Amino acid sequence: MRILVTGAAGFLGSHLVDRLLKEGHQVIGMDNLITGRTDNIDHLAGNNNFTFIDQDVTKYIFIKGDLDWVFHFACPASPIDYLKLPIKTLKVGSLGTHKTLGLAREKKAGYVLASSSEVYGDPQEHPQKETYWGHVNTVGPRGVYDEAKRFSEALVMAYHRSHGLDTRIVRIFNSYGPRMRAGDGRVVPSFICQALEGKPLTVFGDGTQTRSFCYVADTVDGIYRLMKSDYTLPVNIGNPVEMTVNDFAEKILEITGSKSAIQNDPLPENDPQVRQPDITLAKEKLGWEPKTSLEDGLKKTIEYFQSRLTNQ
Ligand code: UDP
Repeated sequence: MRILVTGAAGFLGSHLVDRLLKEGHQVIGMDNLITGRTDNIDHLAGNNNFTFIDQDVTKYIFIKGDLDWVFHFACPASPIDYLKLPIKTLKVGSLGTHKTLGLAREKKAGYVLASSSEVYGDPQEHPQKETYWGHVNTVGPRGVYDEAKRFSEALVMAYHRSHGLDTRIVRIFNSYGPRMRAGDGRVVPSFICQALEGKPLTVFGDGTQTRSFCYVADTVDGIYRLMKSDYTLPVNIGNPVEMTVNDFAEKILEITGSKSAIQNDPLPENDPQVRQPDITLAKEKLGWEPKTSLEDGLKKTIEYFQSRLTNQ
């Protein structure tokens, strides 16, 4: 198949591209490189099944020839990135989703939207099932990301219902692995780099807030299975193993053998207090569940950051 991936130079997008190529597809990667990096796709130079277009997906997209699928994965994805780029974040979720849906309609292609556990906001239902409508502060600083994703989902469903577009919506929970950006401010790259450099681990708030971390290969496998299924309502993809940020910091210290101290910094506004996916639907509809243990996934991720720090 011939597939367009927006956000192809990002962390998740680049791993998705690798998987699609491995499955024998032709891939066109698109990215404007505001948070993505060509480093993430350098290894694909010379691969005849891959082409890259440097483009902002909020502008009209022209692709010559047929397309079978469009994966819309472009978006600043770390809280500090989307707080720095609030309008671009809203535009990629609204105008970018509109443009990519229009392209999919024109090409009679299927469409996969990268949505997020952030549609649940600071959840009052725990764990979160797909049927939960969420608890988002529309006017808070995180609202730019959360509402962009919520709007994207609504637009995808409108194209599905009004134009019969074959669509999928994946609600991705915290994913991690090689190719995250060292300075993106998310907890996984931050703690790993701090531990490796002997700097204090910056735990925000009292560290009792929880997250559930899914290794990127598992996340991408869930996304690929969703594309191949015929299920058109949102599906959670994430690892249900939940832990506090404090326990996560201890885990990083243990695996890296670092003697770094823990430092408590202020909790960002509207930081969700808990997050854990209910993956019953993914198990039933996709036969999917994560396979990589936190230890194994973190070891691979730590090796990646270690080699980058050594080569700096
Ligand atoms: N966090 C932290 N220290 C950091 C970065 C993040 O304690 O240096 C916390 C953050 O407040 C949140 C959790 O770790 O509760 C996960 O944050 P991340 O930015 O990775 O993603 P989020 O799940 O909030 O989108």
